[in-house]
Amino acid sequence: MAGWNRLLDWLLPPRCGGCGAVGAWLCAGCRDRVRRLEEPLCRRCGRELEHAGISCGCRARLRCLSRLRSVAAYEGPLERAIHRFKYAGWQALAPALAGLLTEVVSVEVGVHTDAQLVPVPLHPRRLRQRGYNQAVLLVGDLRHRLRLQKPAGRLIRVRDTPPQVGLDRLRRRSNVDDAFEWRGPPLAGGAILLVDDVATTGATLESCAAALKAGGAGQVVAVTLARVDV
Ligand SMILES: [Zn+2]
Ligand SMILES: [Zn+2]
Repeated sequence: MAGWNRLLDWLLPPRCGGCGAVGAWLCAGCRDRVRRLEEPLCRRCGRELEHAGISCGCRARLRCLSRLRSVAAYEGPLERAIHRFKYAGWQALAPALAGLLTEVVSVEVGVHTDAQLVPVPLHPRRLRQRGYNQAVLLVGDLRHRLRLQKPAGRLIRVRDTPPQVGLDRLRRRSNVDDAFEWRGPPLAGGAILLVDDVATTGATLESCAAALKAGGAGQVVAVTLARVDV
């Protein structure tokens, strides 16, 4: 399936993930309509706040994750492009979307110069169904752009959890508790940039961060393309 998609990508001209227009994977019009998250943002979870300085109450939920930053709101052309990238086999959107993601990733790599990029993993069963993991595609492109090495170990999903869509905050948390494990040499205090396409409550990212901390990671910062405000 993946090979077939790559062949089609090569044969067919690029089409915009946002509006379907032929010519680019994300056309200039759709790129302009991507709504970047604006300050004031919560210092920890990065959500947009009404007034600077107020706490959004995320500290009780996000303990292992030092910070979460997303590029833009999950709406409009970006929402359509991510949906096609994730569920409709438009793997060729990876470089265009990773390009947007560098806006926050470069800032974090500037702060944590030793940081390693780690994608949020899919369970092997889900990976077989979908044929690819969208977070792995984004990380592959980002490592190439930023000339970052692949870590010696990897984060894996040990429990196949039902999708988080439609679950409330508490259920999202218990759904992904202990779902991840770090396999490989201990991380020896290094910083990790955890990468995914969309963040909602941050429950999946927090569970990944717990596994990375158990594997010896220092600071864990999560970066996502889009953010659903809940
Ligand atoms: Zn477009
Ligand atoms: Zn917050």
